[in-house]
Amino acid sequence: MTAEGKVKLKPGDTIGILGGGQLGRMLAMAAARLGLKCQVFSPDPDSPAFDVVLNATCAEYADVEALELFANDVDVITYEFENVPAATAMVLAARRPVLPAQTILETTQDRLIEKDFVKRLGIGTADYADVSSPETLQAAIARIGLPAVIKTRRFGYDGKGQSIIREGDDPVRIWEELGTKSAILEAFVPFEREISVIAARSVDGQVECYDVTENEHRDHILKFSRVPAAISDELAAEARAVAEKIATALDYVGVLAVELFVVTENGKPKVLVNEIAPRVHNSGHWTLDGASISQFEQHIRAIAGWPLGKPVRHGEITMTNLIGDDILTYERWLAVPGATVHLYGKGAPRPGRKMGHVTEVVPARRK
Ligand code: AMP
Repeated sequence: MTAEGKVKLKPGDTIGILGGGQLGRMLAMAAARLGLKCQVFSPDPDSPAFDVVLNATCAEYADVEALELFANDVDVITYEFENVPAATAMVLAARRPVLPAQTILETTQDRLIEKDFVKRLGIGTADYADVSSPETLQAAIARIGLPAVIKTRRFGYDGKGQSIIREGDDPVRIWEELGTKSAILEAFVPFEREISVIAARSVDGQVECYDVTENEHRDHILKFSRVPAAISDELAAEARAVAEKIATALDYVGVLAVELFVVTENGKPKVLVNEIAPRVHNSGHWTLDGASISQFEQHIRAIAGWPLGKPVRHGEITMTNLIGDDILTYERWLAVPGATVHLYGKGAPRPGRKMGHVTEVVPARRK
C-alpha cells in the first residue's frame, strides 16, 4: 500500500483470485510473467486454475474461516466471476483490498440496477422494464411491445435465465418457467452485429481500451471473436468512449468488458449497451496472442497498482472457442499454420462447456 492507501504491489507479492476457472488460470499465468504470485480460492477441487499456482484454497465461498486465512496470505484480492456473494466480498474486504471494489458487484450483479446506472450516464440501452409478477409483465409488454426478452435480474449467463416472448406466446407460462420474482423485460433489439470493448482502468484513473471486438454467438455462447470489428472508425470511437465513461463512473480498477449491440436508427449506426462484465472476458482472449499486452496482464497491472500498458494489436485476429466436443479437434488445430492453441485442462467435455480457444493472427502489413 502507498501512503495514500492505494494498492502498490512489488514483484514477489501475492494476488488472491476468487474463482478457479479458465479466467483465473489465465490471470495467474499473466501474474507469474510479471513476477507476482497467485493464490486461488475455489470450492471446486477440479479447478483449472489450481494447476498453475502453488497455493490453492479449496473451500466454499461461505466458509468465513477459510476466507480469513486466504485473505491473510495475500496482498490484494480480485475475482474472475461477477457473482461473488456480497457476504464473501465483505469478509475479504475487511482484511485486504478487493479490486474491482465490492460496490461494483452490487451494480453489475443485478440487470435492473446495471441498466439504470447505464441510463443515468446518458448511454443507450434497449428499452426495459422492471417485472415482478404476471401483472407487471403484462404492463411491461403493453409498453415495450413484442418480441421482447425476459431476463432474470440476477445470476444469468450464456443465455441462461432468459427467454424471448413473441406474439402469440403465453407470457404467464414463460414467467412461471423462468421461476423468479425479479426480472426485467427488454425490447428485442434487431442488431446488425454484437461487439464488445475490453477496457482497463488503473488505480490512478488511466483508461486503456482495446480495439473493438466483433462477437458471434452459437446457442447463446460466444463462438468467434474477430478484431477489428467491421464498423466505422467513428462508431468504434463511440463504443470505446462508452466503455471509458462506464469505467470512470464506476471508479473501476481492473479490466472490464462492455457488450454492445450495433443498431441502425434513422439510417445511422449506433451502439446500445447490453451488459457490463466486471472482469476479464472471453471476447478479450484474442489479446493473449493478438496484442503486445493481454487483457490478463492489464488486469494484473491495474490491481497491482502498476501503470497500464499501451497495447499494440498485431494484425487481424480471429478467436475461436473450443466448446464441448470441439476439444476433440485440438490436434487438428495444433497443425494449423499461425494458430495458437489454448487448452484449459478441464475434465469431461460437457455440451456448452468452454474447454479452450484458438487464436489466429493475420499480421498487419508494415507501412
Ligand atoms: P446476455 O445474457 O444479456 O448477454 O444475452 C445473451 C445473448 O442473447 C446476447 O449476446 C444476444 O445475442 C441475445 N440478446 C440478449 N438481449 C437481447 C435483446 N434485448 N435483443 C436481442 N437479442 C438479445
